[in-house]
Amino acid sequence: MAALSPLLKQATPVVVDHAQGSWIHGTDGRDYLDFTTGIGVTSTGHCHPDVVAAAREQVGKIIHAQYTTVMHQPLLELTEKLGEVLPAGLDSVFYANSGSEAVEASIRLARMATGRPNIVVFQGGFHGRTAAASSLTTAGTKFSAGWSPLMPGVHMAPFPYAYRYGWDTDTAVEFALRELDYLLATRTAPADTAGMLIEPALGDGGYLPTPPAFLEGLRERADTHGIVLIIDEVQTGVGRTGKFWGHQYSTAAPDILITAKGIASGFPISAIAAPESLMSKGWPGSQGGTYGGNAVSAAAGVATLRVIERDGLVENARVRGEELLAGVRKLAEDYPIKAGRGIGDVRGLGLMLGVEFSNDDGSPDAETALAVQQATTGHGLLSLTCGPQGNVVRLIPALVVSSDEIATGVERFGAALADVLG
Ligand code: PMP
Repeated sequence: MAALSPLLKQATPVVVDHAQGSWIHGTDGRDYLDFTTGIGVTSTGHCHPDVVAAAREQVGKIIHAQYTTVMHQPLLELTEKLGEVLPAGLDSVFYANSGSEAVEASIRLARMATGRPNIVVFQGGFHGRTAAASSLTTAGTKFSAGWSPLMPGVHMAPFPYAYRYGWDTDTAVEFALRELDYLLATRTAPADTAGMLIEPALGDGGYLPTPPAFLEGLRERADTHGIVLIIDEVQTGVGRTGKFWGHQYSTAAPDILITAKGIASGFPISAIAAPESLMSKGWPGSQGGTYGGNAVSAAAGVATLRVIERDGLVENARVRGEELLAGVRKLAEDYPIKAGRGIGDVRGLGLMLGVEFSNDDGSPDAETALAVQQATTGHGLLSLTCGPQGNVVRLIPALVVSSDEIATGVERFGAALADVLG
């Protein structure tokens, strides 16, 4: 007799029978509107027919063609397709399996390219759970507690979290950039700093869009000091934010871009992209892995990119995201912070929506966030919590979500709010 490990913490009791588009059908016979998408992964919805067909066809050709032994066509095709959407100049792509592995690959490359040891990360960032990736993660001590020491050479600067400080965005950006300069003057000299690693919106760290001016400030400093700017688009990439890449809300471009999650609609594959001139600072064989760039995942990736382009899913994410934000903001009007608790902030970037619950002194209210998240399941809507202090409920619909589904999601979210706060 064996059972699943209690190390896994489950957000819902749902067991999936099958799933299609925005819907999960449980073994309990119920239909759930899935606003979790496997944590922002099933970009084209569950089991998109084109993705299913591409994967099925590839399974019959070759499943595992180890990419340092023999190359396979789906990876060449995926690289070509990615070339159409990658920022200008990022013309060299390296593949792995998961976001964490790609994050590690980017750090190794930045260190190899600069010969410098240190990495600057921003408070609340989430970059994965492997030993190095969790050392770069500051989205909560639950990701690092109990198994220190972490990887050395990581320095954390503040993130411009306007709501938390009670400031406007400009003031928060000015503060965070000043503190970054101070960090570079007091703790990690530019000559020792290989890279700065940032998400275009904090993901697990609270669904908080990174102000464009902040990314632009990082770009300026990266240029001034020869520091590699690494943008982690694992969660924000591939249309999720209403632009193909989340950083495209700013004029700042990365030196290394990291992608995973949405790129193959649920098949495991990740990548880093950089200029060839930067990539070639690493040496052949310095990075790799048995399963990286799997053939079935790559075929699913090609199909995913085709569907996103053909069906205008980036634009759909933008428009549906606006509907979702407007709908939830309207609901929030009925639940201001009163009698000690309520909704403090609702923010969104495309189809990444965060609802932050606070006590009346502005302190985080994780208990209410968890109660609301659990209540949504009862109303047939799947949601998740996030944030370093667990007080944000996040809604992450598929890029194929329809206007009707958004309306249904808002209605069900409203019913959950009424249960907990009504
Ligand atoms: N970076 C970001 C921004 C992420 O959101 C995640 C996953 N939530 C990761 C890295 C790690 O990806 P994975 O879980 O595939 O290792």
